Amino acid sequence: MEIIATTKITNRDGIKAIKNGQKLNKFADIPTPKKPSWLKVKAEFNPNFHKVKEQVKSKQLYTVCEEAHCPNINECWSAGTATFMLMGSVCTRACKFCSVDTGNPNGWLDKEEPINTAKAVEIMKLKYVVLTSVNRDDLPDGGAQHFADTVKLIKELNPNTAVEALTPDFKGLFSSIDTLVNCGLEVFAQNIETVKRLTHQVRDIRAGYQQTLDVLAESKRINPKVLTKTSIILGLGETDIEIENTMDDLIKNKVDILTIGQYLRPTRNHHPIERWVTPEEFENYREIGLRKGFLEVVSGPMVRSSYRAERALQKNNAGL
Ligand code: SF4
Repeated sequence: MEIIATTKITNRDGIKAIKNGQKLNKFADIPTPKKPSWLKVKAEFNPNFHKVKEQVKSKQLYTVCEEAHCPNINECWSAGTATFMLMGSVCTRACKFCSVDTGNPNGWLDKEEPINTAKAVEIMKLKYVVLTSVNRDDLPDGGAQHFADTVKLIKELNPNTAVEALTPDFKGLFSSIDTLVNCGLEVFAQNIETVKRLTHQVRDIRAGYQQTLDVLAESKRINPKVLTKTSIILGLGETDIEIENTMDDLIKNKVDILTIGQYLRPTRNHHPIERWVTPEEFENYREIGLRKGFLEVVSGPMVRSSYRAERALQKNNAGL
């Protein structure tokens, strides 16, 4: 992995940003250990991959699959699923594990995005769709209404499609959580990302361990019928006991589904990798989580929060 200098860009919407979210910093001196064999993915494409690509491009949509350099893009797009990323490609935050570009969109929103996303879901005949977004601290409601409008239009055009929303924390604003949880979605997700001790080292300073727990608990309180979901990435320096403590905190806050995956460092400017977690360890964490009471724990080296999301309720580790 090469050291890359700070790169400033202007995206297709005219918003200025730091490419990949991180400036050159002290992490760059720390090398990345060699990838173990279980993390090497074979690129396999089928015609669906190109169909999804065509829809994403023609409707001017963003996907987290591309923006976050997700390692599962071939598998998911070939299976006809994509995770749409709403409200642009520039995040107001700069988490140290994330490769989304960072800047200030200053209130910019694509007003056509809700309808274009709903039409893309219709053309792609998706039975399950995951929507996520960048954090938009520049919008008074954090973008909750725009997010909710997109869910409603998807449901209008695709009444049988289930929607999972992986949302920003809306700075903990309960009114924004209310807007979203009552818009007709099936699954509400907010990622805790890491254990309590590492939160400020890993996530943007405006994010918070307790804030994420509060957001998840509030969503369950407002609408208990909507499933709640969160995700942890491992390999950032957490200990086993800290992982268990995090699971306990999530259970106490009534979180239904947990996903656990390996952190992959996007560039040398991002947080270093402390360890490669083995497939056996992931299986063990799954069993611990299930014993603690999660409805399902999807756990494996390549698991991401939206990976095989439609299969999370099959209760078989999403078929892994
Ligand atoms: S808030 Fe989300 S999109 Fe923004 S930098 Fe953090 S992880 Fe990436």
